[in-house]
Amino acid sequence: MEVHNKNITWYVIFLMVFFLTLPSANAETQTQKQTVNINASIVDLTEFPMSYYIDGSEKMLFEEVINQQFTPSLSKLSLGTDAMITWSKIVVRNQQNVAIKLYVHHPHAYHLKHVSFYETQQNQLLNHIDIPLHKSGEKPLMYGGTAVYPFQLAPQETKIIYVKNTSFSHQWYQLSLFDEQSSKQALVGSGKYIALLVGMMLALMIYNFFLYISARKRENIVYAFYLISGTIWVALSYGVAANFFGVFSAEVFQLNSNVLSMPSFLVIFIMLIFDTRKRYPKEHFALSLLLALLVGMFCYSLFDITAALQSASSLAATMMIVTFGVAISLWRKREPLAKYFFLGHSMFILFNMLAVFYYKGLSDFNQINSHGVGIGILLEALMMAFVLSYRIKELDRIKGKQEELKRLADTDPMTELFNRRYFEKTAQQAIHEAKENQSVISIMVIDIDHFKTINDNYGHSTGDEVIISFAKLLMKHQRDIDIVCRYGGEEFLLLLPGCDNENACKVAERIRQAASEAVLIDEQQNEVTYTVSIGVHQLELSYDTTRSAIDAADKALYHAKSSGRNQVQLTQAQFDIQAQA
Ligand code: GH3
Ligand code: MG
Ligand code: MG
Repeated sequence: MEVHNKNITWYVIFLMVFFLTLPSANAETQTQKQTVNINASIVDLTEFPMSYYIDGSEKMLFEEVINQQFTPSLSKLSLGTDAMITWSKIVVRNQQNVAIKLYVHHPHAYHLKHVSFYETQQNQLLNHIDIPLHKSGEKPLMYGGTAVYPFQLAPQETKIIYVKNTSFSHQWYQLSLFDEQSSKQALVGSGKYIALLVGMMLALMIYNFFLYISARKRENIVYAFYLISGTIWVALSYGVAANFFGVFSAEVFQLNSNVLSMPSFLVIFIMLIFDTRKRYPKEHFALSLLLALLVGMFCYSLFDITAALQSASSLAATMMIVTFGVAISLWRKREPLAKYFFLGHSMFILFNMLAVFYYKGLSDFNQINSHGVGIGILLEALMMAFVLSYRIKELDRIKGKQEELKRLADTDPMTELFNRRYFEKTAQQAIHEAKENQSVISIMVIDIDHFKTINDNYGHSTGDEVIISFAKLLMKHQRDIDIVCRYGGEEFLLLLPGCDNENACKVAERIRQAASEAVLIDEQQNEVTYTVSIGVHQLELSYDTTRSAIDAADKALYHAKSSGRNQVQLTQAQFDIQAQA
């Protein structure tokens, strides 16, 4: 058993030594591995072996660079911020017996400061083209955001193409090799998906602007600004600006400040939708610190954008830690919107982390990693649109609840007529308006006759039913502008704007009549009838108040009661005047 174990150990050591010595053992095989062999007339290579060299001194000449040791890589690279000047070397061999014209595509040239192509054969420089992207003016070989270098290969010929990339901050790029037809197709297809992404972000932004215009909620305008910043940055960094509008990030490099304003707006948005200042002071403090940092960096970027961008990906990572922490904390505190926010923000963070790793040169170059920020923003934006609409629904619900509470405070629960509190409040306003418009207004007080007897004969609950049924009868007789209230017990008040005492008496008479004709079958199947007495008073607008008007109508009611009940009486003074007329 022990012997067996020993054997395995030796075997593993042997294998390790074998593999470790393998690459250095055969340098010739290595170069062969880095060679792109062309053996068909259709060439459509987006992934092939090449090698790169980082010029740390940032000063090396072509003649010096070609003698350096290049590191093997694939044709897609992300090398982080320490590789400002990077050279790529493509060895291409035509294995066919016919000449071929090839095109090196550099689809991410738009985000670089400077790109140069060197065409060589056996260390002899055949052609050299510089594309100064940071200066306005002529840019040779640029097709939208893509640099395209054409070259010929005779039968069985080998050439080496060097591509020098000078970056502003993060070094990432991809090179492709095409024949003429594939080259044209690649140029037509470039940027389609990103244009779709930018289009969706713009649509969401416009939607939020409209929401702001209609609802005047600050979070919508902040969110719209967040999306503008995000859209500008995505358009610049993914080449939409270059591909569609011929605008290179180098020429409008300052616009990259948006990568700092974008998270600032997001932080403000989080503060607003969760009302952190009032409701979550700890989280608010963390967000405030982050916001200060972001705004500080944004201001710095206005003076030195290149330096500010160097730390952008680290800052993005810091931001994600804080905002993600806040999202978790709010969820744990059972904030109802937090789980949706958490979900959207998780997607944002997941894709942005992929992007951060990618920009820092720590992960592979692929469509998802390289477009992580854009995908993250879009997914989050869609979730936020949901959060915002959910919030509108929530605010509506709260508003509805408040209105319901207000209604409850103003109404009598048994009859659902307005209560005394509401009557006094509104009557004052109605009297004021009548004065202003020099119109008339009347009031009536209604009391159910011998109500005690109804209670005594049929019981309290039948008494209640009578009150409820009379309240319904009153509602049937009221106009929209009248205010009807249960003043207490079996007493009711009506305010009749625009009615003089004559019309008010007519209305009162109709009510009295209807009440006297009403027959109520109670729960014990008793046929209950009742009558009411009504006192009417037209307000003397020069001196009457709500109180004095009610008192006057009450006097008339007392008169109706003492004159035998089941009748309408007008205030004595007004009755006298009416009688004279
Ligand atoms: P009058 O014709 O002089 O008005 O005689 P009345 O019996 O109606 O006398 P009064 O207005 O003084 O009595 C009102 C009674 O109504 C007293 C009270 O017990 C009763 N009451 C007050 N509120 C309610 C109520 O909500 N439900 C019932 N069932 N009875 C009530
Ligand atoms: Mg009474
Ligand atoms: Mg009564």
